[in-house]
Amino acid sequence: MKDKMLSVIIPAYNEEAMIPITAKCVAGLLEKEKIVYELVFVNDGSRDATWEKIRKASDDNPYVRGICFSRNFGKESAMMAGLAYAKGAACVIIDCDLQHPPEKIIEMYHLWENGYKVVEGVKLSRGRESFLHKWAAGMFYALISAATKIDMRNASDFKLMDREVVDAILKMPEKQFFFRAISSWVGFKSTSVEFEVQERQQGESKWSVKSLIRYAVTNITSFSSVPLQLVTWSGFLFFLFALVIGIQTLVRFIMHDSLEGFTTVIMLQLITSSILMIAVGIIGYYIAKIYDEVKDRPRYIVEEETGENKTDG
Ligand code: UDP
Ligand code: MG
Repeated sequence: MKDKMLSVIIPAYNEEAMIPITAKCVAGLLEKEKIVYELVFVNDGSRDATWEKIRKASDDNPYVRGICFSRNFGKESAMMAGLAYAKGAACVIIDCDLQHPPEKIIEMYHLWENGYKVVEGVKLSRGRESFLHKWAAGMFYALISAATKIDMRNASDFKLMDREVVDAILKMPEKQFFFRAISSWVGFKSTSVEFEVQERQQGESKWSVKSLIRYAVTNITSFSSVPLQLVTWSGFLFFLFALVIGIQTLVRFIMHDSLEGFTTVIMLQLITSSILMIAVGIIGYYIAKIYDEVKDRPRYIVEEETGENKTDG
C-alpha cells in the first residue's frame, strides 16, 4: 500500500492553537477518502507550545509524525525538512493555519493518480490583505516572472509532488532557493488546481513588511542574475551619457565657449558615484550568497523527532 501513500507536510511556527485543529481536519478528510497517509509536522523553532501539541497529536494518531528544529530556520527550510522526512509516494505541502483549503488535497491526489507529477495550488485571489501588501506582492511576482521566465503570479507553496519530483528537488545542493518556482523549474508533467485563500483561523501571520522585502530580494537573486545584467546595462547607459556630454564639452572648448560647469560636475559626480555604489552593492550581495553556499552549512538542524517508526513497515 506504501506506493499510494500520501505525505502531508505541515510547517508550523508558533501555531499551538492550530496543530490539533489541522491534524484532526486533514487526517479526518483523508481517512474518509480511504487514502493511506502520514502527516509530517515540522516545528520551525516555535516559542510557544507547538512542539508539545505535535507530540500530543502523534500520540493520538499513529499516522502523525513530527520533527523539531533547534531554532527558527524559516518556512523554506521547514518544507525541505518535511520533504526529506516524508516517506509517501506523493507529498503535499500545506500551511498549518488552514488558509489552504484541505479539501483540495483530495482533488490534487486524484490528479496525481491520473498521472500528473506536480499539482500546483494557484490562488484565485489573495484573500484579505492590505492594499500595500497586494501591491508589493504584485510587483514582486511581475519582477520574478520576468526574471525567471516562469509565470509565478498567484503561485503558492500549496502543491503536490510525486516522489520522483521530490527526489529531484532534494538532490539540489543549493541552500537557498525559491520553493515556489523550483517545482516548475524541475519540469515533469504538471497541472494546477485553483483555490480561494481562506481566513486564518487562529494565531497571526508571521510576515512583516521587512520579512517580505527580504523574501523578495533573496528569491529574485537566488533565481536570476538579471540584477547583475542591470549593472552592466546601467554602465553602458552612463557611458553613452558621458560620451554625449564629453563631445559637447570638447566642441565648446574648441569654439572657446566653455562654461563654468561647477554644478554640472558636482551633479555628475553624485549621480555616478551613487550608481557605482548600488552596482557594487548588488555584486556584493551575490558574493555574499556565494559565500553562504560555499560554507555549506545544513539547511536546518533537527533536535527531536516524534512518531518515528510507527508509519514504517
Ligand atoms: N511558517 C514557518 N516558519 C516561519 C514562518 C512561517 O514554518 O518562519 C509557517 C507557518 O506556521 C504557516 C506557514 O508557514 O504554517 C505560512 O505562514 P503564515 O500563515 O504566517 O504566512 P501567510 O499565510 O500570512 O503568508
Ligand atoms: Mg497563513
